[in-house]
Amino acid sequence: MITVSQVEFTGLGVVACRKVEMEPPPLRPDEVRLALSHLGICGSELHVLDGHHPFAKPPMVTGHEISARVVELGAAVTSVAVGDHVVADPIMPCLQCRACRAGRFNLCEPPQVAGFRAPGFGRSSLVVPARNLHVAARNLSLSVLAFAEPAACAHHCISRLPVPCREDVLVIGAGTIGLSIVQALRIMGAGRITVIEPEPRKRDLACTLGAHRAVAPGGLDAAEKFTGVIDVVAAQATLTEACTRVVAGGTVICMGVPTGPREIPLPMMQRFERDLLSSGMYVPGDFDAAIGWLESGAFDTSALITDVFPVEQAEAAYARAREPSSIKVMIAFD
Ligand SMILES: [Zn+2]
Ligand SMILES: [Zn+2]
Repeated sequence: MITVSQVEFTGLGVVACRKVEMEPPPLRPDEVRLALSHLGICGSELHVLDGHHPFAKPPMVTGHEISARVVELGAAVTSVAVGDHVVADPIMPCLQCRACRAGRFNLCEPPQVAGFRAPGFGRSSLVVPARNLHVAARNLSLSVLAFAEPAACAHHCISRLPVPCREDVLVIGAGTIGLSIVQALRIMGAGRITVIEPEPRKRDLACTLGAHRAVAPGGLDAAEKFTGVIDVVAAQATLTEACTRVVAGGTVICMGVPTGPREIPLPMMQRFERDLLSSGMYVPGDFDAAIGWLESGAFDTSALITDVFPVEQAEAAYARAREPSSIKVMIAFD
């Protein structure tokens, strides 16, 4: 018998750390047993907790952004070794559909993502298919490694932005993802980066991390346009601003999660070939790139991880994640 600590949404708005006595489940040949190290709290989980998510509802075990140590291998696993430090991709693809056959596992429908439709990763001991794991250097701190998931989101987003559109980029919103996108733009060779963000501290941080300037909403000249605009908020007002601030032939990327249908100014989009693309999660290669950034130090998490709570204080961690002064709040399991 082992005792497993797990972070549960026990009801709407209620978070608990529960200890469960259990027999460790046997491993299938392709599976790996992990000991969780750090769990990042994501804004999408707060939607689940509040009952606003379309299909994931409490009670459930949450969590999809993790770092972990490998403790046991299934009989057929050769891609990782016991003791490896890993990140687990939370997307559980069917491997059969058209999207999966093209390697675009993020487009598999319906999406089976840990912490949403699939069991959450927020448990001290968990079992994951070996193909979901990405190994990192052991000298990289495990709290930094747990940032690989949001960094992979940012890598995927910029990969969607055509290279010519990276010349002069506007990023709307500078939370965890917006600030990760600023860094991804800097690392992946954007020309000039402008950020719109209401919080002064996050504007300063955006400039520290690579933005050339950051302004409050309403702070840009009416005539100013950009070759690429990334909307990390996806509200009607931000999407309208994104579509009207992109140059002819430029690209808007919807990166935020819209809460409902949105209007877009289609006539000026169509006539002048302003493209609207979207970015949703990531593919495995995005994790490898993100881990490389974290290992090299090119991507800096020091100001982004604002809080680390022990798992026993999971409730306080989720409360802190709601405060605008926090950026990435993590839960430590070891
Ligand atoms: Zn997330
Ligand atoms: Zn599929």
